[in-house]
Amino acid sequence: MKDESTIGADYLFDGDSCILEDVCITMTDGKIKHIGKGKRKAKIVLESAVILPGLVNAHTHFELSGLRAQEESADFVEWLYRMRLKIDKTSLEDLSRASREGIREAIRSGTTAVVEHTNTGASIEPITDSPVRSVIALEVVGYDSSQIEKKKEWILSNIKRIGKTEMRRIGLAPHSAYRASTELLRFSAELAKRNDLLISIHTSETLEEVEFFKKGTGRLPALLKQFGASLDSIKGNFKTPIEFLDSLGLVNNRSLLIHCNYPEKSDISLIKSRGAAVVYCPRSHSFFKHFTHPFEILLEHKIPVVFGTDSLASTPSLSILDELKFVKKNRPYISAQRLFSLATKTAAQLIFGKEFGILKENAPADFCAIKLPEKCRSDNVLETALSNESEVVLTAVSAKILFFYNSPYRSA
Ligand SMILES: [Zn+2]
Repeated sequence: MKDESTIGADYLFDGDSCILEDVCITMTDGKIKHIGKGKRKAKIVLESAVILPGLVNAHTHFELSGLRAQEESADFVEWLYRMRLKIDKTSLEDLSRASREGIREAIRSGTTAVVEHTNTGASIEPITDSPVRSVIALEVVGYDSSQIEKKKEWILSNIKRIGKTEMRRIGLAPHSAYRASTELLRFSAELAKRNDLLISIHTSETLEEVEFFKKGTGRLPALLKQFGASLDSIKGNFKTPIEFLDSLGLVNNRSLLIHCNYPEKSDISLIKSRGAAVVYCPRSHSFFKHFTHPFEILLEHKIPVVFGTDSLASTPSLSILDELKFVKKNRPYISAQRLFSLATKTAAQLIFGKEFGILKENAPADFCAIKLPEKCRSDNVLETALSNESEVVLTAVSAKILFFYNSPYRSA
């Protein structure tokens, strides 16, 4: 018989709408071979736990994992300036070491797939060495012609070097509409289109950003001048940041619009018509004390909204489960099933393809298990999985166990 492994648990959520009880998953060749009844038949039995598709962190910066936020909340413009100084003072070795620690933390919290923004390249090797499924989104920043040429070269050489594998894809991450020249933004749009690359871009993140694009005023211009920006082509163009990005071909069905805290009505219609998705980073959003995120409004318009942690410089952990708990606490009327489905099936299918994010026969065996703190009924499993005490006890990618917390383990 081929190498087969089995894991049993009280419950399984398939990522969509189905909850099974007393399950045994059989896996082979990185895929799910069979999902049947009888957890006790499995070699590994997880007591009081629910197995679900792996959590997807659709936006993070592992390389900033060493620059942990010291304060409880921050002003975004000042924070951006301080971050730039901190990154400049940190060696690539330290950024790389921090990336490895960040990836370990993500795996321990049930993450099986990530979209990592790398500005310095320090997280590229840690990611390619790691067993998580990933999109390495190469960050595009720069204003003057020497910076632009260097950045283009850096991107092209990394695309060649990293290559596309079953586990690894490449994306382009123009940091934002205001951190890269119009030329670099156009270059990104064309390169992404030619190579079918994911685009990941911070947008409509702050009121200052919206004000700057529409009127050319506010606190952002002074900061950007310190970064060496020439602002003439973008400031006060009467467009929202999202409209501006769309005019350059950066809003389409391969775009992840990060944050999108302040979209206007016209932006929502635009995002919907282009088939783009939004990444909501709940605790990072709270760290900057933004107004209420338009999460439900976007969902009502059938815009896919998925979750990211952002970096440890603005969120307390790299756990998507913690992000979901935070959303549930603040929006108790949204069902846990909806939240888990967005964080697993919606995110995985959007970013990696239709075969991901759902637990069924022949699907990739990417999943995690959450220990439930109390006895619950089958119709209350996912709500219980978002209670304060629930925790991830197992993470597997391609049927390989990457993290396993011992206490619920019973060897047959
Ligand atoms: Zn970010």
